[in-house]
Amino acid sequence: MKKMQKMQISIKPTAIVKEAPIGYLLRLIIRNGLTRASALVNDAQLNRIIKGIDSKVPEIDLLLPKGFNLSSVQSPLFNLSLQLTPKVCPECIRESAYYRNIWQNPFESYCRIHKTDLISHCSHCGSLLKFEPALLQARCTNPACHRPLKAESSEHLHLSHEQISDVLLAAHLFENSGPIKSSKYPRIPDFQHALILGYSLLTDIGIAKNWARDSILSISGNYPKNIANVDIERLLGQLKTNWPTVETLKNETKQFHIRCLSSVSEVWLSANEACRLLGVTIEGLVKLASVSLIRAQTNARLSIKSIVDISPLFTLFSTNQMSPAMEPLSSYQPLLWRNDVEIQDVVIAVHQRKLVCGYHPGKSLLDSIYCEKESLQSFAKEHFNSMNERMVDIDKAIRITGASREEILAFRKRGMARIPKWAGFNSDKLVDFNDVLNIRKLKNQLTLEF
Ligand SMILES: [Zn+2]
Ligand SMILES: [Zn+2]
Repeated sequence: MKKMQKMQISIKPTAIVKEAPIGYLLRLIIRNGLTRASALVNDAQLNRIIKGIDSKVPEIDLLLPKGFNLSSVQSPLFNLSLQLTPKVCPECIRESAYYRNIWQNPFESYCRIHKTDLISHCSHCGSLLKFEPALLQARCTNPACHRPLKAESSEHLHLSHEQISDVLLAAHLFENSGPIKSSKYPRIPDFQHALILGYSLLTDIGIAKNWARDSILSISGNYPKNIANVDIERLLGQLKTNWPTVETLKNETKQFHIRCLSSVSEVWLSANEACRLLGVTIEGLVKLASVSLIRAQTNARLSIKSIVDISPLFTLFSTNQMSPAMEPLSSYQPLLWRNDVEIQDVVIAVHQRKLVCGYHPGKSLLDSIYCEKESLQSFAKEHFNSMNERMVDIDKAIRITGASREEILAFRKRGMARIPKWAGFNSDKLVDFNDVLNIRKLKNQLTLEF
């Protein structure tokens, strides 16, 4: 192999300024009378050259131009802003037949010289372009077609890199639901198609409305509305610039949609999303996973980067019956706070049949779980009495005692909300738990509540 390459590379053209390494390789192939990239390198070597890393063929590596000017724009979809599939301006190639390194920037969508789109597929046969010598003749790289590539210009010309990042994200979410897992390199083989798709979702009110409704209605009506909104929030939460359909999409998240009460099907979220949408901390999520109410995608320890299915939790509740005296958990917030009851504690108690709750899907999980006051009170009391802490942070002390931050700090001045002796780092944010209990008693005597 090595010997063969030495024989074949007899002409070594000079690299052109701003030429991509893969572009140089294509010229090397052409100048040495070859017609296919595979005549000089294998697939693995070709891929490394496209990525701008050493091909491990020393004769070629010596010749390749080095370095890319990667974009400073960060997409949630990929880490390295280097596109591994071609897009070209046919007019530029006809003027000077080399592959510009700027075309590998995934946020570059048009030719600033010719004011035309960068082309990723052949308009005659529809084939995706490949890094093959025909590309430098501005021809289709499908050998059965080989027709000249036509310059095109579309309505989404002149978008900034930030806007293109938004468009690529919208295109991704248009075609995929589920949490975004960023890949190392962009996966946009048909760049033109992604642009049309993403641009339509961000600019066409009708398309945005339909997409939003489809995504909401695809989630069983047994889930709270904030979970049914997840696809829309995923898009809105990551946009870098403003778009005509943003208001429409926001409205759809606020509107009531009659969803089908079909059986609870899997809903996969990033652990981060699951925490936000269920109203729990990562510790709370870990607790739910420990009783199999949350299912992780892998056996690895649950972390904020995990992907989880939240359907077991909602399957648990889907059969729960409501009684007239029940109120949503959200209406008991002070009771929950004062007894340090978090939502996962209630869910796990229901799972272990220690507490009877009703369920009716509302805006969030807290609005959807219903409980009778007496049974929640006795559960909360028991929960609080079983607390075995030595210290809590000030925020928790505020919730448990019902005192304000100022009051806690005033108690501290009087020696009643002491910094725990054994606390180290950040110790002034911690309060001795016995002091918290005393302040709570004191406050209780004043309000006679709980
Ligand atoms: Zn051009
Ligand atoms: Zn073609």
